This record gives sequence, C-alpha cells and structure tokens, in this order.
Amino acid sequence: PFSPLITLSDGNEIQQLGLGVYKVDDVTAAGLVEGAIAAGYRRVDTAKLYYNEAGVGAGVRASGIPREEIFVTTKVWNDDQGYDETLRAFDTSLGLLGMDYVDLYLIHWPAPAQDRYRDTWRALEALHSDGRVRSIGVSNFTEAHLERLLDSATETPVVNQVEVQPWLQQDALIAFNAANGIQTEAWSPLGRGRVLDDPTIARIAAKHERSSAQIVLRWHVQRGLLVIPKSNSLERIRENSRVFDFELDAADLSEIAGLETGERTGSHPDAVG
Ligand code: NAD
Repeated sequence: PFSPLITLSDGNEIQQLGLGVYKVDDVTAAGLVEGAIAAGYRRVDTAKLYYNEAGVGAGVRASGIPREEIFVTTKVWNDDQGYDETLRAFDTSLGLLGMDYVDLYLIHWPAPAQDRYRDTWRALEALHSDGRVRSIGVSNFTEAHLERLLDSATETPVVNQVEVQPWLQQDALIAFNAANGIQTEAWSPLGRGRVLDDPTIARIAAKHERSSAQIVLRWHVQRGLLVIPKSNSLERIRENSRVFDFELDAADLSEIAGLETGERTGSHPDAVG
C-alpha cells in the first residue's frame, strides 16, 4: 500500500488515494480491482449507478487481501431516495458486493427537486448505527444542500464527494466542508482526462519529469483532498499511484491556482435528479 491515511471526523481512517470505477463494466471491474489491489491500492469507489458492484466485490475477493484491509465506497442512486427506498437499495448493493458491510455509503446527488435527501440521510444514519456502514457521507452537495441537511441531521456527513479539478477548484466549498468537519473528496480529479492537455500542467510535468496526471493528482494530495482517479488501463492505474514520492513547490501551486475558470466537466448539483 502506498497511500497515506486520513482520519475522518467519525474516527475512521481512509486511504487518501483510491480507484474510481465509473464507466467500467461489471466484468472488467473485477479484473481491474484485483490488479489495482495487487499494485497497492486498498480503496475502491463505486455506486449503484455504475452497475459494477458485483465485479468490484469479486475483484476484492480475488485479490486475496482480507476484506477489512480494503475500503469500499458505494452510493445510493437518485431514484432510491427516501427512507425505506434507501434501506432497500442498500441491501441490494450489499448483496451485489457480496459483503456484510460497506466502509462508506454516500447520497450520490442531493436531487433537490425531489427534496428527499433528509429522509435518505435518516436511513444512512440507521445503517450506520446498525454497523452495516462504517462511515456515512454525501456527494454533490453544495453549501445550501448541506445547510438544509444539517438542520435536521443527527450526524454530520464525514465526506462530501464533489467535482474538483484545476478548472473548478472549489475553494469556498472545501472551506465550508472543513469548517463542518467534512472531508472533501475530488471526483473526476483529472477532469475526465481533459485537463491533462493544459500547457501549464504539461510544463510543470516536464519540470518534475512526471506525467500530467501525476502532477494533477499530486496537487489534490497536497491540498489534503481524497482522490479517486479512474482508468481502464492497469498501467495508468499504477502510474496514478506514484504520487507520494515528489512534491510540488509554491510556484507550481500558484500556477495551478491560476487555472480556475469555473468550467465543469460534469453536471451542476442543482441540475441532477
Ligand atoms: P477522471 O478525472 O478520473 O478521469 C478519468 C479519465 O482520465 C480516464 O478515463 C482516462 O481517459 C484519463 N486518464 C486516467 N489516468 C490517466 C493517465 N495516467 N494518463 C492519461 N490519461 C489518464 O474521471 P472520472 O472517471 O469521471 O472520475 C473518477 C471517479 O470519480 C469515477 O470513476 C467515480 O468513481 C467518481 N465520480 C463520482 C461522481 C459523483 O457524482 N459522485 C461523478 C463522476 C465521477
């Protein structure tokens, strides 16, 4: 294992770097997860929406690494929001994973038009007290969604997984999360691969004799974010893990800070669900 651990506000530890498996089919996921674990990964980020929870579970078992040494995240999808619906969706996810607990369960999107995320959250709190979920959190929550959730919540989410990449740096949301004890996790940390062609990133990569992907991942790591790059290639999965043996300097960091444009590679949280 190569990844440092971060302690969440519920006391549980999580590997800073994990493998994302969005748009990886179920069969491919099994092999990729097994290969990533062999390469030193100990954490996988999936979701009901990805339709690969069975493959992820199979990959974890095939790795031969004990279940308790692997950190598995999955998420409740928008059409399963609501208290009873979420409990049922969780049972299905757990069955597909072939596991008896999940390390982190997230509300995938707030889906504000449905306005059911507070009921969904109560279900996550119940799953947490049952011990079937070790940590509970949210994804794609803006400050407004979090404030509405915290109004009625017993527990505070320990993670908010949102889009963060050099064009959308999310300084304000990261600070709001931190002020509430919520760890920010970056999804599409490589901007779905699109930010890798940025000339500033390429220049910094050449300076450090690293790839552009490694520079962007290192930037996330130095900001203290959780990060879950995805690739279908085991070679790139290995490359993406080699980010703990060099450091970006202050000049690199300020150049990357200057890349903010507000451009999203994914959807706005208010527009989904
Ligand atoms: P990403 O930013 O991780 O980019 C992945 C793409 O970048 C790959 O498909 C590949 O084309 C390219 N890439 C990866 N490594 C590379 C390398 N070393 N060199 C060159 N190119 C490389 O995008 P993503 O998959 O959208 O996001 C990562 C993970 O975040 C997902 O798999 C998923 O787990 C999570 N995610 C969550 C949400 C959410 O709503 N919660 C949304 C999107 C993604």
